[in-house]
Amino acid sequence: MNVNTITYRNFRNIEDATLQFTPGVNILWGNNAQGKTNALEGIYCFACGKSFRGVHDRELLRFGAETGGLDLHFTDERRQQHLSLQLFRSKSRQMKKNGVAIRKSADFVGTFHGVLFCPEHLAMIKGAPALRRSFLDAAISQLKPAYLAALTDYASVLKQRNALLKQEEQSVSARMPLLDVLTAQMAELNTRIVLTRMKYIRLLDTSVSGFLEDMTQGREHASLAYRSDAEPEAHNEDGAAISSAFYEKCMSYASREFAAQTTLHGCHKDDILISLDGREARLYASQGQDRSITLAMKLGEGELSRAATGEYPVFLFDDVLSELDSGRQQYLMQRLGGRQVIMTSCNESLFAGMDVNMIHVDEGCYEMACPVKNPFAEESE
Ligand code: ATP
Ligand code: MG
Repeated sequence: MNVNTITYRNFRNIEDATLQFTPGVNILWGNNAQGKTNALEGIYCFACGKSFRGVHDRELLRFGAETGGLDLHFTDERRQQHLSLQLFRSKSRQMKKNGVAIRKSADFVGTFHGVLFCPEHLAMIKGAPALRRSFLDAAISQLKPAYLAALTDYASVLKQRNALLKQEEQSVSARMPLLDVLTAQMAELNTRIVLTRMKYIRLLDTSVSGFLEDMTQGREHASLAYRSDAEPEAHNEDGAAISSAFYEKCMSYASREFAAQTTLHGCHKDDILISLDGREARLYASQGQDRSITLAMKLGEGELSRAATGEYPVFLFDDVLSELDSGRQQYLMQRLGGRQVIMTSCNESLFAGMDVNMIHVDEGCYEMACPVKNPFAEESE
């Protein structure tokens, strides 16, 4: 999959620009605060249906602008595709896929596939479980729109359930029938989400351990496992059994949940257990090892996307090269043959002599230079 062009109108600090990319490595380079990350943010909006910076649509609009938007032209295995996103300050966004209006973000996601790697992701190994869950959710949603729909429904049921647990005007017994209904809905959605995540992690585990061994010449071994409330029952992957066990468990905790005024169990608490040489990476990995595992997870995400769709997604790397030592930089550049990469950097000299498409970024304006030779480039896979 390759991005051909993207047009930005009143998006962040970009008033009006069209960027053209080559199928190989593209570098957006320039000083701080010029619009490098903004450009990547626009592209990734089409992969996930929202900004990776977790902001509202109105914050994506250029200061003072009432409307703006993005147009992405890309080529996948089958054809040229066109996605567009129109943003408004005072009403909801409008989305189009090949000229046809679409209503839900879930119908939009899954057409364009991207793997994003930004400096914030380097906190994924040591940080809170929410970071690891969002990695999983972003990766799986692109491959399985039904998963995104289940996540959205789960979030809505969870919100209603938490509101009910907090609502002290009614007695506990008066709230019990509705709690029962919401718990049954949550159990069913929880099961779908957990089973999908477990399957994804099993596949990712193989890919990540391969990349890490390759990167460290066999010195380091990682393994990934999904850690869930529903785990003991989920081993047999019998959806009905998991759902009913989860429902029973939640109901048996109801009195604690009324006291805590929040839902204590469910996939919104789950985690990925990442081990390095048999020990929990969260507790023992060095900073360099964190970086290696994260990089292996991102490359693994790309492999799983390729296995599911038949082609590599577009890799979007926001200023991560400077976070890696020269060995890992070289490894990354070597592994990227045959994929389209759009990378940002403040440091032009990192790419001297490489066959990459250099695009200079200056105050929301973009200027392309002539491509030169990349000594790291592999033959297309
Ligand atoms: P760095 O190297 O520091 O990461 P960058 O080139 O990636 O810099 P961006 O994150 O793309 O910088 O931001 C560029 C500029 O866009 C910043 O000055 C930021 O304040 C500005 N900006 C952010 N949102 C908006 C907006 N809605 N309207 C106008 N400008 C914005
Ligand atoms: Mg940036």
